[in-house]
Amino acid sequence: MTRIVSRFPLPPMSLGTERHLTVHSYGDPDATPKAYLQGGLHAGELAGPLALHHLIRRLDAGEDEILGHIMIVPIANPIGQSQVMRGTMAGRFAESDGSNFNRGFPDIAQEVAEAVRGGLTGDAAANTVLMREAIGDVLADRAGMAATEIDYLRITLMRLACDADLALDLHCEEEGLVHLYVDTLNWPDASDIARLLDSRVTLLTNPTAAMSFDEAMTAPWRKLEGEGLDSGCLTATVELRGAADVGDALAEEDADRLYRILQSRGVVAGGEEIGAEEIGTDDEAPMRAVPVEGMDRIVAPTPGIISFRVPLGTEVTAGQPIADLIDPTADDPAEGRIELTAACDGLLYARRIQRFAHTGATVAKVASSRPVTATSSHLTD
Ligand SMILES: [Zn+2]
Repeated sequence: MTRIVSRFPLPPMSLGTERHLTVHSYGDPDATPKAYLQGGLHAGELAGPLALHHLIRRLDAGEDEILGHIMIVPIANPIGQSQVMRGTMAGRFAESDGSNFNRGFPDIAQEVAEAVRGGLTGDAAANTVLMREAIGDVLADRAGMAATEIDYLRITLMRLACDADLALDLHCEEEGLVHLYVDTLNWPDASDIARLLDSRVTLLTNPTAAMSFDEAMTAPWRKLEGEGLDSGCLTATVELRGAADVGDALAEEDADRLYRILQSRGVVAGGEEIGAEEIGTDDEAPMRAVPVEGMDRIVAPTPGIISFRVPLGTEVTAGQPIADLIDPTADDPAEGRIELTAACDGLLYARRIQRFAHTGATVAKVASSRPVTATSSHLTD
């Protein structure tokens, strides 16, 4: 299968350095549907980049015809990858300004709305074309004004993705089950993706001020919801298990699942062979999807060594001890231990990898169908 490799330079921040984004593309750039996949925006989360490496190999083999356009950015954050702190990659936050790489994407919803209002008609397909043009124009203007390499990186990723029908941003937890974040605007439309990825839980989000990649991509479509528009770009944040699970065997499995998504969405031929049992049917109960307010972040009230009592994937009940937090300096060892408990019934889907918690650290996450947290707390860093 013909693959085109393109390199998009980022503006250098110091003399004698240069970074770029590498993009692998398949199919006619004007063909639809378009799928966009990126990995490693949090640069140390390598499950996505390795899965995309295997997806590229699979697509190169040319088993099935490419019907649409595929764009793959396996390393979406070369800046973060270059940040090495005493031997360890520090790829979640930018050293230069302290920002989380998956926050602070530009909110262009208002500008796009002003550009398209008046031009929208009763023709949803024409409206989608108009929206994509406006989004592309606004982002092109923003790129010209980007003050730093990081701003330019964020805008460039959005420009690459903004005319896609489907955009997947691949991350991983420290320890975690496969799970998704999807804006409520795109649910249950994304339920086939959850099912094909064998996602254990989908966290349904509403807009916050944090502006992760998927929020920023969804914002213009949400702004004009109800004005004759379909959501033109289904964007999801995909968490592919934990950092210690990264390896060829699971990455090949993930690549196979991503390939099935490309087929099911009509980007690659062969989707008609995917049975209803694999992607579900409209009248079937959806995969477990809970409001993101149902994310119970179990936080350490004191510092201590973590000893988990239950493994990932456990269905826990409210009040059940999840872990002990141990202080070996306590005068009385019997008092140097506290239980951390679940606030609600739900699925233990993520755990901290380091077995020490400073005060306030997140030790584990439980997904409950009942709201337990404030709206935006899922986007705490
Ligand atoms: Zn991440």
